Order: sequence, then C-alpha cells, then structure tokens
Amino acid sequence: MTVGSLLRRAWRQSVARLLLILCGAAALGLLLGAFWPLLALAAFAILAWHYWRLHRLLSQLYQRRRLRDIDGRGLWDDLEMLLHRRQNEGRARVKRLLGLVRGYRRAAALMPDAVLLVDRESGRIDWCNRQARALLGLDAHAPGAVGTAFPGNAVQGWFAAGQSDEPLIDQPSPIDPNVRLSLRLLPYSPEQWLLVVRDVTKLLRLEQLRRDFVANVSHELRTPLTVVHGYLDILDTEDYPELEPMLTEMRKQSARMSQLVEDLLTLSRLEAQEALAQREVVAMAPLLATLRREAEALSAGRHRIRVLDEARVDLLGSTRELHSAFSNLVSNAVRYTPVDGSIEVRFERSPDGGAVLSVQDSGYGIPAQHLPRLTERFYRVSTSRARETGGTGLGLSIVKHVLNLHQARLEITSEVGKGSRFACVFGPEAVAEGLPEAGGEA
Ligand code: ADP
Repeated sequence: MTVGSLLRRAWRQSVARLLLILCGAAALGLLLGAFWPLLALAAFAILAWHYWRLHRLLSQLYQRRRLRDIDGRGLWDDLEMLLHRRQNEGRARVKRLLGLVRGYRRAAALMPDAVLLVDRESGRIDWCNRQARALLGLDAHAPGAVGTAFPGNAVQGWFAAGQSDEPLIDQPSPIDPNVRLSLRLLPYSPEQWLLVVRDVTKLLRLEQLRRDFVANVSHELRTPLTVVHGYLDILDTEDYPELEPMLTEMRKQSARMSQLVEDLLTLSRLEAQEALAQREVVAMAPLLATLRREAEALSAGRHRIRVLDEARVDLLGSTRELHSAFSNLVSNAVRYTPVDGSIEVRFERSPDGGAVLSVQDSGYGIPAQHLPRLTERFYRVSTSRARETGGTGLGLSIVKHVLNLHQARLEITSEVGKGSRFACVFGPEAVAEGLPEAGGEA
C-alpha cells in the first residue's frame, strides 16, 4: 500500500468511527427522549478518548518506552505505528554505529603501536589502547594527560605546537629510558589528536650500527690509502715513461678514493651530532674571499666568477662546517658548468631578517624530476659526468646535514641548459647583528 492510501484509510476509519458513535448516541437519545444530552455526552467521551491517547503517547515518548507496532485502526494507531518504526530505525542505526566504533577500537587495541586519543585543548588523554600500558605505563581507565605521560619538555612543547607533519623521533619511554620512541600526531577530529607512539629502539640501533660501520670502514681505509698515495707520489714518471698513463690514472683514482673516505668521515661526524656543540661568529667576509679563491683555483680561468657580499653580516654557527658546505656548492657549480660559463656567489639578507647564501651557475642544469633526490647519498643525475668531474656523490648530502645543524634549509632551482641556483636559507636567529652596513663585491 502506498503512503497516500494508508493515510486515506486511517482517515476513513477514524471519521467512520466518529460518525458511528455520534449517530448511535443520537438514535439512543431520540429513543430515550434525551437527544441533546446524549449527543453532548458522546462528543465529550470522544474528546476525552482523544486526550487520553495523546496523554498515553506523550508519556511513552517522555519515558523513552518502546511504542507498540499496531496495524492501523485509525489516526492514533497509525501515528503510533510510524513512531514505532522511527524508533526501530534509530535503534538499528545506533547499533550499527556502535558496532563500527567497537570494530575501530578493537583494531586500534590490536595495533602494535600505542594509540592515544588526546584532547587538543587540555592535553587530556580520552582513550588509549593496551599497548599504551606496555610502552608508556598508562592506566587504560585513568590515562591522565600528555604532560604526565611524558614528563619531558620536548614532548610537551611538540604537542602544544600541534606539529602533525613532523614526527618526534628518538624520545625515551617514560617507564624505561632504554626504550626509544617515535611520536606522531594525526588530526583525528577538530577537538582531538590521535597520538601514535612506536617503539623504534631496534630501528635506531640498526641505524647506529650502520653509521658506526661506515665510520669505522672509512677510518680503516684512511691509513692504507695514505700509504698508497705516498708511494705513488714517490714514483717519478720521468724514470718510468712507459708507466706514465698508468701512474697518472692510479694517482687520480687514489685521490678520488681519499676524497670519498674524507667525505664519508665528514658525513658520519655530522650525523652523530644532533645540534651544534657551540655556535661561534662565522666571519663571512673572509669566508667569501676564501670561496672566491677556491672557485678561481678550481676553474683555472675557464669561468667568469663573481662573489657578492650584499648582506654584510656574519652568521652564527660553525665556520668549519659552513665552509665545507659552501665550498661543496661552489665546487659543484664549477664542475657542472661548461667553459666560459658564469658563476655567481651572492650573500644577501632575506625579508624576514635572515640571510641567504646562493651559488648560481649558467651550467648544464638539472631536470626537475631529480631535484627532490639530489641530497641523497651517492645520488647523481648523470653518473658519467659526475665521475668525469671527480665528484664523490656525497657533496650535497654534506650540505644538507650542515644546514640542518644550523636550522637552515637548501633551496634548489634549476633549468636544463640554463643553469642552477643552490641557496642556503638561514633564519634571523642565525644572523649575528651589529656589523657595519655596506655593499659590494667581496
Ligand atoms: P657529486 O660529487 O657527484 O657532484 P653532489 O652530492 O655534490 O655529488 O651532487 C649530486 C648530483 O647533483 C651531481 O652528481 C650532479 O648530477 C648534480 N649537481 C650538483 N650540483 C650541480 C650543479 N651546480 N649543476 C648541475 N648539476 C649539479
């Protein structure tokens, strides 16, 4: 039956019942000679019955009782039936949602990571899974707040900043400092964060093993290489003219190997540091002058070289590391720019009060798809060209690590056939203020 016909049937039944009662009362009234009083009595009884049904329905709704499923025998029955269906649908929806929530919670509880639902405003932990007890010692019934779960300032500061894009790596577990944790914030709802805590002890140990291995191997290779290098230097090609091409190649390769070992040791040293032990004033004018000399020596007159000091400020950090980073960029610019190309080193202030050291060349350029991977170890755009120019494949990796230690970043822009620009961007906190303002070529 359609909704319209159901409604019509209910109306018909109700009106027919009303007319039947009124007609019955009128007929009885005529018979007994009390027409009007009996008609009024019947009308009053009908009104009272309607009020009684209304009262019954309202009290059932107020008391949240389940309504009866009665098949329509008038308007009130139909109304009760419809409300009963709504109640059933509502209950089924709630049941389904509860099932879903329970399913999610069961999945979260089974996860090997600790999962916490945390209120963004107060830092209160609204819920946590079983693993949170093992990793963080939290009581699932009264987990407390992030502040008490992680007493250290690092986690609290990170949580307050709401850094959902930056995980916090290598934090000690509050119950066992030997267990190292990585923390990640996920935006669960506008009011809550999902805090996922993972045990990364094994991963960090492996990483440490890898670093130690590379550092030890590089260190061990240093001595034999120095010996080979020394003997090769003693051998004079004039004494052995027939060996000249071989000796020249051996010298070249042993120099490359030494450079590789030195670069690997530099990277290991940089990786072992979480932050700079101390920050000194890095005098930029002499450093720029050194970069110019190095570029000129490497280029040997094959390029036009300009070094501009427009910032006329010094930086705060490590002179040794910054020199190594900048000279890597300068060396790359010389090596990847054909003869007669131009190279410009520019040191300038940035609008936010920081400073930028950029090395721009008019060289081969780098296709866009390689840019995101350039700072990976041993990543090369063209292996043959890099080998030809004597690269180790570690230069930009070193640059990235040095800049990370200075809370600076490397920006790379490049166009194939036109050239590249490598910019080291320092924040205002890395600038040593209070030096005379002036501009010009360094
Ligand atoms: P490499 O020792 O091989 O130069 P780097 O880490 O310094 O290693 O650089 C990685 C790669 O990036 C290089 O092999 C080269 O392909 C590319 N590259 C770096 N600097 C430049 C540049 N100025 N112009 C073009 N390509 C560059």
